[in-house]
Amino acid sequence: MATKAGGLIKGLSVTFKELTKTVVKGPATVQYPHVKETPPIRARGVIALKEENCTVCMLCARSCPDWCIYIEGHKEKAPPRRAGGKPRTVSKLDRFDIDYALCMYCGICVEVCPFDALFWSPEYEYSEPRIADLLHDKERLGEWMETVPEAPALEAGAEAKKK
Ligand code: SF4
Ligand code: SF4
Repeated sequence: MATKAGGLIKGLSVTFKELTKTVVKGPATVQYPHVKETPPIRARGVIALKEENCTVCMLCARSCPDWCIYIEGHKEKAPPRRAGGKPRTVSKLDRFDIDYALCMYCGICVEVCPFDALFWSPEYEYSEPRIADLLHDKERLGEWMETVPEAPALEAGAEAKKK
């Protein structure tokens, strides 16, 4: 009984504290779209694709828990890297779509990409009247790259990634 009463008092004190905060500072919400907040720099707004880094390895699509990444590619012959070397076969991206009607913003795709081809942008204004229009193709995902914030400076003692 004593525990129940203690819990109730604790709960009410939190309610009272939050109520006081709202009265003093005003509501925590804003009247969107008339008022817009600036999201934190590392907010998960939308995923951007750096197409030239993508090797069509499919790791992101296979790791996505919602199966909302659609990738298609083809192989092409490429000249050898060095004179006298063997001709190479490289993968070219034909299709890279993300369906934001299904995406749950878990970030697994961004984390698993071994080639730094996917990045988070804090942009969040891309709602659509038609749900089908939430499928962003590689051109649209590429345009989001402009909104990706600069990487933060390395911590003291950290080494830059070798290219
Ligand atoms: S953020 Fe998660 S759900 Fe969305 S595309 Fe990436 S892996 Fe899939
Ligand atoms: S994991 Fe990266 S490199 Fe591989 S297909 Fe996805 S975006 Fe492209």
